Amino acid sequence: MIRIGHTRASGTLVFGTTRHDGTDAVIGSASGGWRYSRLIGDEGAWYLPHSRYGRPRLPDIERLAAALRAAGHTVEVTITSSSNATAAIEADRAVRAAGRAARYTELADARISSATARLAAVDARREAVPPGQPVINDRYAGFLNRLNRAEDAARAQLATGHYWQRRAEATSSTQRYRHNPRVTVGRVERLEAEQRRLQRRRDGLDPTGERSGAYFADLAEMDVALADLTDEIGYWRGELAALETAGVFRSWTRDDFRPGDEARVLNVWYPVVRVNTKTLTVELPNRDGGHESNNEVTRRRTDTAPYVNVYGRRRDGRELLSPPPAEGATCTCRITIPTFNAEFIPERDGGPCPKPPVSRLTIRHDGASCGCDGTCMLPEPDEPDVSPEQEWTEVVLFCTDHAFEFQADIAAAVATEAATVEDLS
Ligand SMILES: [Zn+2]
Ligand SMILES: [Zn+2]
Repeated sequence: MIRIGHTRASGTLVFGTTRHDGTDAVIGSASGGWRYSRLIGDEGAWYLPHSRYGRPRLPDIERLAAALRAAGHTVEVTITSSSNATAAIEADRAVRAAGRAARYTELADARISSATARLAAVDARREAVPPGQPVINDRYAGFLNRLNRAEDAARAQLATGHYWQRRAEATSSTQRYRHNPRVTVGRVERLEAEQRRLQRRRDGLDPTGERSGAYFADLAEMDVALADLTDEIGYWRGELAALETAGVFRSWTRDDFRPGDEARVLNVWYPVVRVNTKTLTVELPNRDGGHESNNEVTRRRTDTAPYVNVYGRRRDGRELLSPPPAEGATCTCRITIPTFNAEFIPERDGGPCPKPPVSRLTIRHDGASCGCDGTCMLPEPDEPDVSPEQEWTEVVLFCTDHAFEFQADIAAAVATEAATVEDLS
């Protein structure tokens, strides 16, 4: 029997089939773009891309069930769409982060050890050539070319290894995000408005009079919808909280501003006149373009902007494009302990750095302009449904020591123009 199951934490999966038992033609051509991943479960499974954490896409599920039944299979559909799934999702997130770190470390180790062995072999063959030997014939030139190509390939593999190593280090601290946090903030606000609207409708359902079956059906349906919404809001709030704890992102709030600051509202900087709970009151330029005045003759022209439209703060000559990290955020680097024989054993890992951050590096990765040579766009081994071409953002916080240690890397990142560095001190 084939079971099509949906839960919020795992998305929509097809159980009871294997890749090559004849169902693949049916599932592969069904609507919705079902895909197969070897990484799901012990033996792999078909899944519906982008179905995790969402509501079940019933039309696609029903159509697949019908197609499989038409092909002579017994199909059961189980949909667990709601209710208290948030806690499970949270747990799932932690488990996945741990699993990812382990997997990235494996990927890194395999590549680094293979590349190191290949480089050693290239070196050994080079050393066998007497120094200064002229390129006397085509065969010898071909040998040198092959050696150079082998070295390039080994160095590329080493770079990929180092990339996975950095990713393994960053998984626990959510330094990387694909969802734009501002979009997430907007989504939470929309979902909360929807929740209030539904709650009002539910409260307004008339419980008196003739209690028809429809009344109870409506009530039950609305309760499921409300529970779903609560779950969804909880999930996205959890995402934002994780980013905030890691010092990566939080929304601007009234605590971040005081009169006299300048605020960038969308694309223009304005002086802040008053700080309100949900908005900033900013001063508009005079008609002749200046900001001064406020004497009795000319009245100030002001406007208010919600915090979601604020894109920066200038204070004491320092400019921040997103709010400073939350209180208690730490440097996101790792402490490395040098070993005596760095040639054979690279430095030892001393755990995350506990010092407060003094600067923030934000890199927008697209694989090209960020200078990663494409390594940053390698597909996620455990997120087969996330498009590898999607840009993502990385935020790194440096304490004084690590800012000094990595100053060359920071300068190189900023030189690519895909990165910005901000002073948090
Ligand atoms: Zn990159
Ligand atoms: Zn540090």
